[in-house]
Amino acid sequence: MARIAFIGLGHMGGGMAPNLVKAGHDVWAYDLSDAALDAAVKAGCNRAGSTEESCQNADVVITMLPAGKHVLEVYRHHVLDSAPKSALLIDCSTIDVASARAVEEEASAKGFTMVDAPVSGGIAAAAGGSLAFMVGGSDEAFARAKPILEPMAKAVIHAGGPGAGQAAKICNNMILGATMAATCEGFVLAQKLGLDPQVFYDISSQASGQSWSMTTYCPVPGVGPKTPADNDYEGGFAAALMLKDLKLAMEAAKQAGVDAEMGEEAEELYEEFVEKGGGSKDFSGLITMIDGSWKPN
Ligand code: NAD
Repeated sequence: MARIAFIGLGHMGGGMAPNLVKAGHDVWAYDLSDAALDAAVKAGCNRAGSTEESCQNADVVITMLPAGKHVLEVYRHHVLDSAPKSALLIDCSTIDVASARAVEEEASAKGFTMVDAPVSGGIAAAAGGSLAFMVGGSDEAFARAKPILEPMAKAVIHAGGPGAGQAAKICNNMILGATMAATCEGFVLAQKLGLDPQVFYDISSQASGQSWSMTTYCPVPGVGPKTPADNDYEGGFAAALMLKDLKLAMEAAKQAGVDAEMGEEAEELYEEFVEKGGGSKDFSGLITMIDGSWKPN
């Protein structure tokens, strides 16, 4: 059993931390939001009054925060001065590769071992303990992180050195954003050409147009498995978060000198959908903008 500080108990962290409690760990939770903290305490975590308090005597510190600026702020001003140097630091947030590498360098200069461990899988996978973790860090750091992450995971994969987890995450989500956009366009065009969506699904899901976006997350209601499309695009992975990941990918592509035009197109489409009020809808709701049926609430 480890003493774990868990900072950031929102949609994702709020589902993840209770799985560490169930695995027998002593979890000390902190969030700026009282409501988020109350829910974590109800699920068996201990209430900490601050990040510093959660980090006291911690064996492991886990963060699940919105973006790079929050991660830099929390580590620079709170965690690195309050956690014991022996604590393993694990950031599970999705952030830009440069911030991930910067915070890992600062942590290691102070004598800490740190990994970036962003996740794939949404709120349901967070609550169900079936996230895929992509871990960046040394072999030794990965070996320490793996057993801690396992109760929250269906897979824990070592992506490479510091920042490699974030790199894998944004490249994966760039593919996801572009394939979802193409899948939405394919279904809208199929329907305009007179094809029944179910018939098109039966054909394309067994042909070369098949993808995760089609067969696991079909954007058309009533077609394929149950997805957010069957719930008016509520729940799931918010379009605003997809846009955030695409922006991170485009920033990385620019820095790396890669001409990622499909990713750029996807970013523009999601930007437009978010501007039209679709930010909190599931990202597959993009299909309603493409077929012209989108109406903000
Ligand atoms: P969220 O906004 O629901 O949760 C973030 C939490 O961090 C909030 O409760 C907020 O109060 C807290 N917080 C912010 N600053 C803080 C601080 N200084 N100290 C303590 N707490 C602080 O976000 P989320 O949906 O849980 O996503 C978290 C991360 O996981 C993001 O980086 C996101 O991109 C990534 N992610 C999300 C999903 C998803 O489906 N929601 C899927 C994969 C990855």
